[in-house]
Amino acid sequence: MSRNPEAIARMIRDAQRIAICSHINPDGDTLGSAAAMRLALIKMGKDPVLFCDGKVPDQLSFLPGIEEMRIPDEMEESFDLLLAVDVSDIRRLGNGEKLIRKSLHTAQIDHHPTNPLFMEENSVDGDAPASCILIREQIAALGLEIDSDMAVCLYTGISTDTGNFAFASTNAECFEIMSELMGHDLPLAKLNRILFRERAKPQVLLMGRALNSLRYYENGQIAVMKLTQRDFEECGALSEHADTLVNFGLDTIGTRMAMLAREGEDGTIKFSLRAKEPDCVSDIAQQFGGGGHPQAAGITMYGKLDETAGSVLDALIHKLNG
Ligand code: AMP
Ligand code: MN
Ligand code: MN
Repeated sequence: MSRNPEAIARMIRDAQRIAICSHINPDGDTLGSAAAMRLALIKMGKDPVLFCDGKVPDQLSFLPGIEEMRIPDEMEESFDLLLAVDVSDIRRLGNGEKLIRKSLHTAQIDHHPTNPLFMEENSVDGDAPASCILIREQIAALGLEIDSDMAVCLYTGISTDTGNFAFASTNAECFEIMSELMGHDLPLAKLNRILFRERAKPQVLLMGRALNSLRYYENGQIAVMKLTQRDFEECGALSEHADTLVNFGLDTIGTRMAMLAREGEDGTIKFSLRAKEPDCVSDIAQQFGGGGHPQAAGITMYGKLDETAGSVLDALIHKLNG
């Protein structure tokens, strides 16, 4: 598992029509990575097309070019190259998986330690705090300079995946790149407000529901929250509005692991698992067919909210006492 920007640069130089695919339930890192790569490829005279099997969160609609994002459904065209960004495993492409058959070559740039290296060329560094860090390196390997639009994209990915430069994963490389981005008129205060402070009203209402559902187990060491479809409907909220709520559980003093289970419109239950170092939850996510990082992992399952949440809670309790 290592960075491989030169190999991917060669594939990009040999390609003209390039599909860039983000992961389902897209976040700032996968969309920032995709938007930055698109800008770089346009500068090279290539024809990039952005794909994501999911809606771009309103909060991230400021990303330059993100309005070009397409849903991978019935595509007529084929591509010379598919480039997946921040996609930890093939299922996280969702319907974007169809792009693999539509593309002559495949490559990926990612930073998930659980990535099984599922493309032809893989530039994957499990120690990098964000895929956007690797995208910065990829742009350099293509012989391009950063511009102010790319700076907005890269800042978005790096800041969101490091919890606004607060997670243990935050390293010197983040700040080296930030220093460079600041040299390109990065509107830091404005973006910081959009990304980390502002909330839509439905999101504030949903926060209340999540806190109301909060229960502690094992002497407060595990925090569990649940959100039903009814909660989402009554708050007028979307699934994306629940994305950071799991942290309310985790941030409790004495809590070591937190879980948020939410019902999706499509009958799935989506789990967000979090842990404080040195505890780890990605192994538990993998037990249930999910994945992610040691302290931030996720699962998507079919079933009933209470039953599936009960199974995951049992696994967390077992891990805590094991
Ligand atoms: P989330 O709780 O959705 O913020 O996800 C936390 C991390 O877990 C993300 O960085 C994803 O890489 C990973 N993840 C989330 N859901 C899944 C899933 N269903 N399968 C594999 N990995 C996931
Ligand atoms: Mn991501
Ligand atoms: Mn990421």
